[in-house]
Amino acid sequence: MGSLGSLGSEERVAYIQFLGAAGTVTGSKHLVNTGSDASGKTGYQLLIDCGLFQGQKEWRERNWQNLPIAAKEIDAVVLTHAHIDHCGWIPRLVKNGFRGPIYATPATIDLCGILLPDSGHLQEEDAAFYNKHQKSKHTPALPLYTLEEAQACMQYFHPVSVEQIKQLSPGISFRFVRAAHILGSAMVELTLQLNGQGRRLLFTGDVGRVRDQNVAPGKVVRSGPVEGETADIMVMESTYGNREHPTDDPRPQLAKVIRETIQRGGSVIVPAFAVERTQKFLFILKELMESNQVPKVPVYCDSPMAIQAVEIFMKHSEEYSDATRKLLNQYGSPLEWPGFQFALTPDQSKRINESKTPCIIVSSSGMVTGGRIQHHLAQRLPEPRNTVIFIGFQAQGTRGFTIKSGAPDVKIFGEIVPIHAQIVAFEQFSDHADTPELLQWLRTFKSKPGRTYLVHGDPAASSQLRDAMTKELGWNVQVAAWMEKVAV
Ligand SMILES: [Zn+2]
Repeated sequence: MGSLGSLGSEERVAYIQFLGAAGTVTGSKHLVNTGSDASGKTGYQLLIDCGLFQGQKEWRERNWQNLPIAAKEIDAVVLTHAHIDHCGWIPRLVKNGFRGPIYATPATIDLCGILLPDSGHLQEEDAAFYNKHQKSKHTPALPLYTLEEAQACMQYFHPVSVEQIKQLSPGISFRFVRAAHILGSAMVELTLQLNGQGRRLLFTGDVGRVRDQNVAPGKVVRSGPVEGETADIMVMESTYGNREHPTDDPRPQLAKVIRETIQRGGSVIVPAFAVERTQKFLFILKELMESNQVPKVPVYCDSPMAIQAVEIFMKHSEEYSDATRKLLNQYGSPLEWPGFQFALTPDQSKRINESKTPCIIVSSSGMVTGGRIQHHLAQRLPEPRNTVIFIGFQAQGTRGFTIKSGAPDVKIFGEIVPIHAQIVAFEQFSDHADTPELLQWLRTFKSKPGRTYLVHGDPAASSQLRDAMTKELGWNVQVAAWMEKVAV
């Protein structure tokens, strides 16, 4: 069911093609093509998300491949949210000739304005590193795109507010609805008029937590994705399709780990994505310090975009959870909190390495795939008094995954770094709904979608979620394959 069958010659054959995040959790890219008409005129080509592949080399190499259609043939991009695995390929798409509009919520555009240039900067750094150490097969190694190219693509972004209906072309419109994943995140409800019939497609992007504060503490944005949905075809994420988040409050254990590390003279290193996860962790840390559960040691928020990220959060108060609102009313902006340092130059960042007194370093990237976290970990992983606290998902093939899985060493900057520090991971801070939460959300649907395709999950997670949805809800669910085309 759903494969491209033969239709009458006068009918348009519309399809979705999964160009990324199929069989893996990164590289989200779904092409909707409304099909050629009887005269042979090409249909509308819409890309939902345009993410970067991250993690294993096999996946990362796909960032260098062209799409099956020319970039300039794509009419528009609609973006669910600002995570790099959903938006990080946009500068490459523009570099390859795309000049159409990119639709996103205002908060997503603000976040992309800092995340995409940062991604370009990391691409340049990587290329420079490989050239210096001549570790690339290609000489010279080139960045996928530069910081400047990433900045230049921001001119194509157009804001669309949540719930606003946006007409893309006659018979094609979409609406963003709340995803409750990160600041600015939204699902895309796409409505197509095809061969005289209305078709409704729902692209979930990443689905946020269903439950609230106690089991998803520190959530900066409101939890609870939109309820009462329906669709002819749904394309849904499955990151946590085979897992459940713990339901206990992580704060007492987190406080204990930090306290014990400081008591033995060690420092705490927290790899965290600079946007959302870092703010969430800072809010929790502030609460723990103010309630004297954690000593007030210096906190370094060491990411080049940390200040901008906080400023964007302060600007979009419409999305706050009640807890965030309360905390900000009480303590003001994190940028003003005593003992929290944000404005770090690269030199200041490196000087933290010389500090022998306990401190807490929150730095990116969250999966240790690049950024300043690398030199903090290279410095502090070999010492048993230190602790690394993971508060986010670690994709297979990333350094974060290696460290978290208990490896004796990890390669950073081309050197083998022994791991003697304590390694702790908390799963409660996830911004993704887990399996029970996804099923809980799906039960709110007004009717079963005709077909559901699962994307954005490791194969085991996607297939287990498919089985759960089939068995518990009786839905027609398939796991999407990379480059697969399915009829709309
Ligand atoms: Zn996401």
